Amino acid sequence: MELSQLNKDQILDIKPTFAKALLIPALLCVGLGIFVLQKPLVWQDIFVLVIFYQIALFGISVANHRYFSHKAFKATPFFEFILFLTSGIAFQTPALTWAAVHRKHHQYSDREEDPHSPWFKEGRALNFWEGFWHSHVYWIFDLKILSLIKKYTPDLYQNTRLVKWQRYHVLVGVIGVIIPGFIEAAMLGSWDGFIRGVFWGGFFRVMLLHNAIFLVNSWGCHYGMGYRAHETTDKSTNNAWLFPFILGEAWHNNHHAYQASATTSHRWYELDPHYWMLKIFEKIGWASDLRKHA
Ligand SMILES: [Zn+2]
Ligand SMILES: [Zn+2]
Repeated sequence: MELSQLNKDQILDIKPTFAKALLIPALLCVGLGIFVLQKPLVWQDIFVLVIFYQIALFGISVANHRYFSHKAFKATPFFEFILFLTSGIAFQTPALTWAAVHRKHHQYSDREEDPHSPWFKEGRALNFWEGFWHSHVYWIFDLKILSLIKKYTPDLYQNTRLVKWQRYHVLVGVIGVIIPGFIEAAMLGSWDGFIRGVFWGGFFRVMLLHNAIFLVNSWGCHYGMGYRAHETTDKSTNNAWLFPFILGEAWHNNHHAYQASATTSHRWYELDPHYWMLKIFEKIGWASDLRKHA
């Protein structure tokens, strides 16, 4: 069934508020943390944290970034649905919003119109701490989502299937927080495991990955840390210390130099496991036309 423009706009125009997107999740995370951290860490805590962190990182790096934002490869409808699910589990802004903001970032990187620049906000130069907080998280509350999507992602906006899926973004995110609870409850054989799983694989995992990704925009890859392999017109850098947290996304200067490439690895030591995964998905027929830098 086709969606009218009005319905599409209602689905897409989900504005993150300070209370819903930051304050309430942070309080829940701290509250659960106080309860859970009174008990010794067990390997099952680490297990759900690592598994769900990697699923969510895949949702940001492969789904939101390389697929929805840059169209660095083609996906079968089934794989596209998997990409949508992992994007939802990551629980950042929905895929269309993420892609629109990111395409604008590439158009204006480190210039006054950059939506999450550590250097500017609405044309005003920022000092060190203003720049950090704006580029790290507060830019989210300034978004004019509908006009961004219509201007920067008209291709995705036309895709009724994607817009319909986006209606379930929050539901998928919540399920992604609860499932690790059931898994750890089953592993430990107690409902105590449910609380632990919801904390380690849910709230703590979301908080950790959000901050790792936000660091790309703030101090990690646009503020002079790391090295520049390419003389791009922006200030982007590659940053090895972010690799354990965001894998190949750490090679951000490489990415700015060749934005549509399915891989960020330009040298043997710049590892990009998500590209290796894409090659496997290509082998089994789920992904195709992987674009590569020159
Ligand atoms: Zn960038
Ligand atoms: Zn990009």
